[in-house]
Amino acid sequence: MEFLKVENLCKIYGKGDNQVKALDNVSLTIDKGDFTAIIGTSGSGKSTLLHAIAGVDVPTGGKIYLDGQDIYGGNNEQLAIFRRRQVGLIYQFHNLIPTLNVVENITLPILMDRRKVNKERLNDLLELLGLQERRHHLPNQLSGGQQQRVAIGRALMNAPAVMLADEPTGSLDSRNGHEIIKLLKESNQKYGQTLILVTHDESIALQADRIITIADGRVVRDGRVSQAGKTAGNGRISISRSDEAGHDSTGFEERQVAQR
Ligand code: ADP
Ligand code: MG
Repeated sequence: MEFLKVENLCKIYGKGDNQVKALDNVSLTIDKGDFTAIIGTSGSGKSTLLHAIAGVDVPTGGKIYLDGQDIYGGNNEQLAIFRRRQVGLIYQFHNLIPTLNVVENITLPILMDRRKVNKERLNDLLELLGLQERRHHLPNQLSGGQQQRVAIGRALMNAPAVMLADEPTGSLDSRNGHEIIKLLKESNQKYGQTLILVTHDESIALQADRIITIADGRVVRDGRVSQAGKTAGNGRISISRSDEAGHDSTGFEERQVAQR
């Protein structure tokens, strides 16, 4: 089911000679519950795309629909509510509040939204994240991996429809990085959340259902990941949507996206 629809998205930063076209007419649709990886070189527009979808960076042109709702179609208040309730954003650096403990950091967005904390969900999440024993610790009493798990907990607490992760493993060693990806995938499966993850790590991208490659603000490749491309023991099977898709040695089935 088509859940997220990005239509002719453009983003231009700056004016005159300093203009940068960060997104150049990007169109794509993402199904509910899908795990999509976005890859591309530095400066290609990955973060800009993610921030536009998250409702934090107003596009210069084009539209984004989530579950049929034009996310920039309403007023600022509606956009703020969209951001708080529909999306969970995870960055490379976790942006935890240093004076708040684990539980307080995770529940902060709910409290700011003046809603009641669902204790059962909180406990579920602490369990999933392996943070039960750390509930009252401050960020500086936690390892980098644990801090990133708190950031994931904060993004998941709202049960957002879409999880957006911008190089969430970038500041972690590879073991902790893979733990974080495992957690994101578990929550993607357990809560049926749509997951969009920006990464430069091919082994992480290959765990996704689909890989979208961005270059110079455009989608240049878009393909499903075949089972062969996934790590052993993963247990998930993804079937290529496109019959004419070609195979390459990594198991990544790709098709060239027509340029304008
Ligand atoms: P990526 O995440 O793929 O590395 P970004 O989306 O951050 O790339 O950036 C895409 C392009 O837009 C780059 O050329 C970058 O310099 C430019 N850019 C990003 N944010 C801004 C900004 N706030 N002001 C001006 N230029 C920006
Ligand atoms: Mg970036």
